[in-house]
Amino acid sequence: MGEIRTVAVIGAGPVGLAAAAHLLERGLDPVVLEAGPAVGHAMRQWSHVRLFSPWGYDIDQAASRLLAPTGWNSPDPQAYPTGGELVERYLEPLATRTALGSHIRTTARVTGIGRVGFDKVKTSGRERAPFELRYRNGAGDETLVADAVIDASGTWFSPNPAGASGLPAIGENAARERIAYGMPDVLGAARARYAGKMVAVLGAGHSAAGTLIDLATLARHAPGTGIIWLLRGDDPAKSFGGGAKDKLAARGAVGLMLADLVAKGGLRVETGFRVSRIEPADGAVRIAATMPGGARDVVVDELIVATGFRPDLGFLNELRLGLDPALECPKALAPLIDPNEHSCGTVRPHGAQELAQPEPAFYIAGMKSYGRAPTFLMLTGYEQVRSIAAELAGDRQAARRVELVLPETGVCNVTASGPASGCCGGPPTSDASACCAADEAARQAGAGGCATQHGGCGPK
Ligand SMILES: Cc1cc2nc3c(=O)[nH]c(=O)nc-3n(C[C@H](O)[C@H](O)[C@H](O)COP(=O)(O)OP(=O)(O)OC[C@H]3O[C@@H](n4cnc5c(N)ncnc54)[C@H](O)[C@@H]3O)c2cc1C
Repeated sequence: MGEIRTVAVIGAGPVGLAAAAHLLERGLDPVVLEAGPAVGHAMRQWSHVRLFSPWGYDIDQAASRLLAPTGWNSPDPQAYPTGGELVERYLEPLATRTALGSHIRTTARVTGIGRVGFDKVKTSGRERAPFELRYRNGAGDETLVADAVIDASGTWFSPNPAGASGLPAIGENAARERIAYGMPDVLGAARARYAGKMVAVLGAGHSAAGTLIDLATLARHAPGTGIIWLLRGDDPAKSFGGGAKDKLAARGAVGLMLADLVAKGGLRVETGFRVSRIEPADGAVRIAATMPGGARDVVVDELIVATGFRPDLGFLNELRLGLDPALECPKALAPLIDPNEHSCGTVRPHGAQELAQPEPAFYIAGMKSYGRAPTFLMLTGYEQVRSIAAELAGDRQAARRVELVLPETGVCNVTASGPASGCCGGPPTSDASACCAADEAARQAGAGGCATQHGGCGPK
């Protein structure tokens, strides 16, 4: 890498803004490009959802240092904000009251990134060429030249489809009028759409659980509201999570509430339901599933698809990427977050080294860095960008240091065996002293650390 001065940050979500704060603190010049009309554009789409992590886990340290002299009223670290409150009380002040303001361009959607004068094939001298970012605003196509790029554009706007094979179900696109993706505000802005209707929710994660609980509340006040929970898997209990063992208590509580709802028959559960076709049916919609035992279908007024998200890699086409073929995340991260291996929310902190790409000075951070894996925490993203900013500023020691203890979730189902799996999902990388802060503390106290003693930070 040559000397780094200007760093393009894609996305003004919590992680993109934290990246900009760390870069600024290190004397670099961040330029944040945000597709939406205001910061926190993705989070504003789920502003009604209460976070399961309290304020203490939601604020980046560098951002906090920028805010402190502005007279910012920092929120109670124990309280749980909604997405809307996080935007209003943290992201907006950060973008309007601090030096970051002049570094943010809104309504600026990045549509492509290349290297100035180099197409993807050309190698010699490539790493010395700056990046060229093409973005679109109200005035048309614009170009930004930058020495480094951090893509923190999240995944909210590219939800997974309903189809069980990863492709949209036959008819899914045509039935869009009766389908919502993610977490619609069924008790607020979208109440009229769902009250008194038969509603199916497809998915097994936290978003599906939260929506099912909200629909059950709606059903108590709006007679005629019916709920069907469609699950691809065979065991609803897998969605109940760590319950009381989850150190993020609010997340554990969602699982317990869902378990209670199912036990009391508050909703109909269809397991093993792999959606293949969605078609109109007399003013409603028929959702059909094909499975080994034969075909099944349900007819509902509305379908809410909460099957997770995937990264938009389209605008990264001209860059050389090394992504895991299944998860579409940076390769080194895949073993730590692969849901086939563990459902562990306790991923060891990681940074510039794990997130490095074959394209020098290009990083994917934040929610997008997890690709299709579902367990991302904002706090993890803050540590990622702290480390990346240090690396870009030439402070390799700080880039490699672990500065974070993540909450244990108690929801780990680790299937991999052997000592390595006892270390927050993996052993320390070759030039890091420990796999995570708890491991570091154990080693410094003379103990063997997580990988050898199965104490510390690993699943007990
Ligand atoms: C419903 C829900 C609840 C969650 N609850 C929690 C929680 O309690 N605790 C927790 O730690 N994590 C939680 N998460 C996970 C995660 O921390 C959040 O999604 C967080 O918003 C991720 O931050 P981010 O900055 O990586 O991405 P985002 O917040 O998604 O921000 C990305 C930004 O990039 C912009 N963008 C997208 N494409 C482009 C483009 N081409 N050009 C320019 N800009 C672009 C978007 O408009 C957006 O503003 C939750 C996620 C969801 C969906």
